[in-house]
Amino acid sequence: MAEGALIDGKAVAAELRESIGKAVTTLKASHNLTPGLAVVLVGEDPASQVYVRNKGKQTVAAGMQSFEHKLDVSTSEADVLAIVEKLNNDPQVHGILVQLPLPDQIDSQKVLNAINPAKDVDGFHPVNAGRLATGEPALVPCTPLGCVILAKKVAPSLSGMDAVVIGRSNIVGKPVSQLLLQESCTVTIAHSRTKDLPEVCRRADLVVAAVGRPEMVRGDWIKPGAIVIDVGINRVEGADGKSKLVGDVHFDECRAVASAITPVPGGVGPMTIACLLRNTVQAACDANGITMPAI
Ligand code: NAD
Repeated sequence: MAEGALIDGKAVAAELRESIGKAVTTLKASHNLTPGLAVVLVGEDPASQVYVRNKGKQTVAAGMQSFEHKLDVSTSEADVLAIVEKLNNDPQVHGILVQLPLPDQIDSQKVLNAINPAKDVDGFHPVNAGRLATGEPALVPCTPLGCVILAKKVAPSLSGMDAVVIGRSNIVGKPVSQLLLQESCTVTIAHSRTKDLPEVCRRADLVVAAVGRPEMVRGDWIKPGAIVIDVGINRVEGADGKSKLVGDVHFDECRAVASAITPVPGGVGPMTIACLLRNTVQAACDANGITMPAI
């Protein structure tokens, strides 16, 4: 069998950002509306700093307003909550993202719960999680949305597929499962206590791996012809002693069996910010009673 097709997340994300840019141009011209995204970063975690910088750059590149709040690592919970409240009340800010993880003195859930659900472009507020679960219009978490967009690039209808999601986190596993249910997949959510995970995986037409364990999913776990979406981002030492990124899926083994697979890097990763920009446009339109231009 020929090796599986590569699902190029970098290219799909670039297309998405281009169509978001066009939608923003339309909103500015027809409604004098410029979507705005505020990002709150507490502390100096290097990975978070890179994410926040990229988010800011891509927000501006799409023609939107970017507001960055960089706070000292010792900032109190009360001060972070006060900033969130200010952003909730700022009409130029349509989306608010608080970069995780937050330092220990701050209760992350309390901060996430303080974001106005209408501006919760990360989709982590319980109101948006509940709306997603009940099928009401919601702001949907960005990485899960990216996974489904990529899967639909190779299989426009996922209806009736057996989908196995490995991982049950609130930011990836659970919301991606809800989205796949909405796509009419038969969804199994596997996790660290699942018995015989390889056997569970083998029945999947679509595997989404969101575990955080390098190359855990092996080739003989994959049903021939299945679609594999790898969310994992793990830094490991390569054979040459240099550090490199790998996913939760053993790429070469699984590609040999799958019909299509996302690489790491260059698969799900680039979709996250693109979906964040999309959500910001959606939030801006909803706040102003405007139908979102096609994206
Ligand atoms: P998490 O640690 O919150 O959750 C991991 C899940 O994996 C848990 O639900 C756990 O039950 C399950 N698990 C752990 N060990 C397992 C095992 N041996 N067998 C089966 N299941 C097991 O992680 P997360 O935040 O959901 O992230 C998962 C991965 O996705 C990480 O590598 C993370 O870096 C990556 N990630 C990527 C993006 C992106 O591409 N933009 C975004 C978020 C997360």
